[in-house]
Amino acid sequence: MRILLTGGAGYVGSACLRYLLANDVEAFAFDNLSEGHAQSVPEGRLIVGDISHTGALTDALRTTGADAVMHFAAATTIDTSVTDPDFHYRNNVGGTRSLLNAMRAAGVRRMLFSSTCATYGLNPETPLREDSPQMPCSPYARTKLAVEWMIRDFADAYGFGFTLLRYFNAAGASADGTHGEHHDPETHLIPIVFQVALGQREQIKIFGTDYPTPDGTCIRDYVHVDDLAQAHLLAIRAIESDTAEIYNVGTGTGSSVLEVINACEKVIGREIPKTIEGRRPGDPPALFASAEKIVERLGWSPVHGTIQAIVESAWRWHKQHPSGYAN
Ligand code: UDP
Repeated sequence: MRILLTGGAGYVGSACLRYLLANDVEAFAFDNLSEGHAQSVPEGRLIVGDISHTGALTDALRTTGADAVMHFAAATTIDTSVTDPDFHYRNNVGGTRSLLNAMRAAGVRRMLFSSTCATYGLNPETPLREDSPQMPCSPYARTKLAVEWMIRDFADAYGFGFTLLRYFNAAGASADGTHGEHHDPETHLIPIVFQVALGQREQIKIFGTDYPTPDGTCIRDYVHVDDLAQAHLLAIRAIESDTAEIYNVGTGTGSSVLEVINACEKVIGREIPKTIEGRRPGDPPALFASAEKIVERLGWSPVHGTIQAIVESAWRWHKQHPSGYAN
């Protein structure tokens, strides 16, 4: 198998790329480096390009001899999707349409798409199953749901196999501490807590303590990025020409914002300053997965099971790379 990873220089994409290479799969990143980091991609594996350029993408698929695509490239911040939905629809919906047409032109017939738990949105079921109704509550989540439908429609009409991975909150860093999470600007909870610990921010702002959850803060299911990578390899290997599958990828355990901050404080060894703020626009109250299906059908076996283990790996990366990939 030869795989092209759009967004392969991003946080999850590059973790998957390295995991594929470590498992003897030929793989290449296609990334415009608007958010990704060239340093996160092994030597000789990066093609710089934008998914909106169908021709360049078609060339990349042909020259790498790709027979499958993992599609990570997307605009992913929930709050900016509320203020600038055009950017998210253009990148996510328009970009995926361009990719699907490049795949048709190059004859690539297998696709794995990075969808998200955010498509379940306001659905109060816990845990969420693949057949739980999707109730997205932000423009970002709605672009991802629109793309899920676009992929189904293209697969029905033009014939290719696909799997949608709805993953929960990717977190953590590689075991050797060499690769981790770095967004600019950073919006994610765990890296921001560690930026406070490193003196780069004054405090962690807790966005809302009035949610209908036990401690009033939002609950998410944090899954280690290398466990996500394992899920990607298992899922892409299982895609046949007529596959149309959906899997949740989460641990089945939810952690509240306060629980995550506490877990981080344990590894840092001290408390950090906090303030309570209003809710962040577009945030669903609670999302955690039933991962039974991917465990049973694909034999997924996450190895970084607890939030404590996940934040420990993240802290190693942030301590050693206080400026992320800019170090
Ligand atoms: N969050 C927070 N303060 C921050 C960043 C995030 O309270 O500075 C909360 C956010 O509102 C959400 C949770 O932490 O409930 C996880 O947010 P993150 O951005 O990490 O991931 P998301 O769930 O949005 O993909």
